[in-house]
Amino acid sequence: MKINNYLSPNFHKRKRSVNSIKIIVIHYTGMQSERESLIKLCSPKSKVSSHFVINKYGKIYRLVQDNKIAWHAGKSCWGKYKNLNNNSIGIELVNKGHQFGYTSFRKKQLSSFIKICKTLIKKYKIKRSNIVGHSDIAPSRKIDPGEKFPWKELANKKIGIWHRCKPNFLKKFRKIKIKKKQEKIEFVKNLNNIGYCFPTYNKSFFVKTVKAFQRHYRKELINGLVDKECLIIAQNLSKNL
Ligand SMILES: [Zn+2]
Repeated sequence: MKINNYLSPNFHKRKRSVNSIKIIVIHYTGMQSERESLIKLCSPKSKVSSHFVINKYGKIYRLVQDNKIAWHAGKSCWGKYKNLNNNSIGIELVNKGHQFGYTSFRKKQLSSFIKICKTLIKKYKIKRSNIVGHSDIAPSRKIDPGEKFPWKELANKKIGIWHRCKPNFLKKFRKIKIKKKQEKIEFVKNLNNIGYCFPTYNKSFFVKTVKAFQRHYRKELINGLVDKECLIIAQNLSKNL
């Protein structure tokens, strides 16, 4: 696997121990072009970066060394971890994103992503459930890498997790209402088990977290409403962690 250095100055100057690396956060660049994205991620003014950038053709750039803290996650939470820059590796996939023309991720880009993920998983013993999207860890602010990211296909390659329910079975429960109190509490409990954080109860935050969950696990309908299908998926994921 060829990795091209394209170093960014945007990282904490102190080193971190490799034992602190627990999570992989996946992003899309969300800008007009690859060039523009690389310039931003390397400009001292922007104060953002990531460890890796993968372009549409699968070319991999290293911007920040693994043992340095890159600035990609921002205010975020996953399981017991907060402000995930400290504990994660950030990977940016070049894609214009929802704002400028969101497109499917190409095969070559994904195949490089898989290679680099496998290396990182092995090197840092990263748990499958700790491979997450930016939207999963910062649902109130972020929607990347978005619903076109092929979570299910990647889970088949042991990258990230997926449920074990059959799509035809699940479909019957789409838009079926849940019992408000009891089943909603159960849904939240299951999401907590998976890693999603609910720092304080706030309706708008809740809806955005449900959307993040749907973007990841039920992309056919992203409406922020917990229906029976969402509940069944959450139960199944939590049970099989
Ligand atoms: Zn992001």
